[in-house]
Amino acid sequence: MAWDGFIKGELTCRNCGKVLGNQNRGNPAESYLATYTGICYECQRIGKTLIYTYPLDGCKLWSYPPHAPAWRRNRETYRAYDDCPECKGNGYKRVSRSLSQGGDYNKSCPTCFDRFWGNPRRIAASNFREERLKGLREKHNQNFIEEALATIKGLEVVKPVGRNGRELKRIPKGWKPQAYIPFPKGDPREVSISALVDKHFSLYEVERSKLDQEWEELFPDVVSDYRIPEHPLK
Ligand SMILES: [Zn+2]
Ligand SMILES: [Zn+2]
Repeated sequence: MAWDGFIKGELTCRNCGKVLGNQNRGNPAESYLATYTGICYECQRIGKTLIYTYPLDGCKLWSYPPHAPAWRRNRETYRAYDDCPECKGNGYKRVSRSLSQGGDYNKSCPTCFDRFWGNPRRIAASNFREERLKGLREKHNQNFIEEALATIKGLEVVKPVGRNGRELKRIPKGWKPQAYIPFPKGDPREVSISALVDKHFSLYEVERSKLDQEWEELFPDVVSDYRIPEHPLK
């Protein structure tokens, strides 16, 4: 049977728990893959809802119904400061556009955006994390390349492979074995280097999660977006 575009199984709204409509009942769009948003039409239409307040400066994250509520769309979220003169604490600005171009739409309030990302404490936290991450990536890249080169050296002389996968009879000028898997898939050299990639990636991940912990101890007042508690209307 050809796939009909509906997500299989019984789905429920993650906000109210109601069983979502499908090809046999209710609003089919609720379970249709291209229009599935995880919530039902009623919850899609709920008005302005507070999702989160940032402890650092009281900025608020708001959830709104889609700007064209008749369409099946995800809800929209905007950050806003209650006292913002530009958006009056709503977090967005309405942008006019002709119907032929898709009609009016909302965009984030630039004043709130600048205030949020211009906060010196937030800048310090973000710079700290970026710099440390950069160092981590460089270190693991270097370790990986050294180990990969050592691995290749221990193996037979590497022959260059043509586009058809066959070894070339003559070595092209300037060719040298690269650390980045120049071998056909399944070749023992490719297998050992792929294993090295996995190893260094997991080492990197371990250190990255330690860095995240340290980051949270140093900047407990700055909450990164991925630490915001889940909210069913987000
Ligand atoms: Zn619902
Ligand atoms: Zn604003």
